[in-house]
Amino acid sequence: MMVTTHAAAALFLFGSPAALLAPQFAAPALVGALLGGIAPDLDLFVGTHRKTLHFPVYASLAGVLVAVVAALAPSAASVAAATFLLGAGLHAASDWFGASDELRPWERTSPRAVYLHPAKRWLKPLHVVRYDGAPEDFLLTLALSLPVAYLFGGPVRVVVGAGLLVAAAYTFFRRRVPDVFGV
Ligand SMILES: [Zn+2]
Repeated sequence: MMVTTHAAAALFLFGSPAALLAPQFAAPALVGALLGGIAPDLDLFVGTHRKTLHFPVYASLAGVLVAVVAALAPSAASVAAATFLLGAGLHAASDWFGASDELRPWERTSPRAVYLHPAKRWLKPLHVVRYDGAPEDFLLTLALSLPVAYLFGGPVRVVVGAGLLVAAAYTFFRRRVPDVFGV
């Protein structure tokens, strides 16, 4: 799935409810979720993609624990840490439902969707979303973004709108990306 889908999912599922429950911590809740949805894919640049910063189990468990802490002792830091970890855990777990990390994921030649650290093995892609930038991936970004844009005005709407534009462009050009880079 596209990073915009992961970011929108984290905002919708974790950032928005936390922001509505504790409006005084709306900003840390939403920023934490946004960054958590994005952060795992930074391992595109360092280490092994879908492994080094993807923790489907550990980040999710840590997120649940920190969410309990945030509920008992709410603060900007605890709320942001909770939505960040939950968003990062969801990102890693949902990569399982997409395609592999290969350059042309629609060819389905790689069995590596995301690394399952506790089991020390890769999960096979489930292809519920056929590949990142597939039309259904864009629809997911759209469906998860619209409620967030509706609920929160101002800068949140700007960020979500920018994400939608990026997602639309990426979806439009996705199949041509490997050829453009000559790989
Ligand atoms: Zn990912």
